[in-house]
Amino acid sequence: MRTEARIELAAIRANVAALAACAAGGAQVMAVVKADGYGHGLVPSATAAVEGGAAWLGVAFVEEALALRAAGIDVPLLAWLTTPGEDVAAAVAAGVDLGAYDVGQVHAAAAAARTAGVSARLQLKVDTGLSRGGATVADWPELCEVAAKAEAGGEVRVTGLWSHFAFADGGPDHVTNRAQAALFAESLEVADRAGLRPEVRHLANSAATLTAPATHYDLVRPGLAVYGLSPVPQLGGPAHFGLRPAMTLASTVALTKRVPAGAGVSYVHQHVTDRETTLALVPLGYADGVPRNATNLGPVQLGGRRRTIAGTVCMDQFVLDVGDDAVAAGDEVVLFGPGDRGEPTAQEWAEALGTINYEIVTRVGARVPRVLV
Ligand SMILES: *Cc1c(COP(=O)(O)O)cnc(C)c1O
Repeated sequence: MRTEARIELAAIRANVAALAACAAGGAQVMAVVKADGYGHGLVPSATAAVEGGAAWLGVAFVEEALALRAAGIDVPLLAWLTTPGEDVAAAVAAGVDLGAYDVGQVHAAAAAARTAGVSARLQLKVDTGLSRGGATVADWPELCEVAAKAEAGGEVRVTGLWSHFAFADGGPDHVTNRAQAALFAESLEVADRAGLRPEVRHLANSAATLTAPATHYDLVRPGLAVYGLSPVPQLGGPAHFGLRPAMTLASTVALTKRVPAGAGVSYVHQHVTDRETTLALVPLGYADGVPRNATNLGPVQLGGRRRTIAGTVCMDQFVLDVGDDAVAAGDEVVLFGPGDRGEPTAQEWAEALGTINYEIVTRVGARVPRVLV
């Protein structure tokens, strides 16, 4: 194959098992498989996560949840982001838990429950300091009371109470994370006084799963770590946490050619050869998720050696300047992988480009086939 993202499902299974072992006090794992399983493939990732011991799955959007149900995955499933007017009746009918951030969403879920003929499973989210989704602490008591009333009417069942940290890589002692954990505990008491008795309370993302056992409650909600990447690279790489990166992105040299010194390479000649050299063309570009700002920065492995992308990353291709090395069309080029054959990792890409490992794997484009190994 010209280009492929190899997905090691055994790594996903083992990573989830490692996360389950690390969950404190019998907390279960909700494996987050949003965004096409962080680029690894929605259904295969979800299936592997369940095989590895995930009791729950989490996604952002209702369509993602329905795609999992259509694939026959019947574990408890939370979809946490809906917009007004979205038809959530199919999700209610499919037993998908819906995130609810405000009173309007409780009413919408109750209406969907009347359509679907089953009660809607709602998980109320409190904003403890991320200022993204969720009810503010000021609005939380009313949200709990309205949800409790809808529950008494049978249209809604409040299955979960949850929140999300602002400093994913802040480490266990980050001051904001500590304040958020304290506010979450208070918010649970408010919900309790409103009469809510949820099945699950959850707060911990990957970083908190690995480093902050006091935040584990009934469920941990890791995404990145499921795919074997470290959410806290400053504290340790994947191996430090017993994780293994599940994706290898590899391509094939399409063409090599000799050029003289002074040859301008790729659009606007951001690389100029400094000697007679061999150029190797790699058929992968920003349409495939290689960031354009990997121009002259992105690390790859070719012919047993590390190289750096030479010149501008184009839509479908980039070039390597390999000097006099014996490189030929048909040779394999590895952009990133677990790192055990000397290839770069997604973490190295993130550092080279000033972004995070999350983005490197998630942006791999739809044109790249995912090959399960
Ligand atoms: C993406 C996401 C997660 C997973 O976060 P990681 O840092 O990848 O573990 C958990 N909860 C919510 C609400 C999210 O949006």
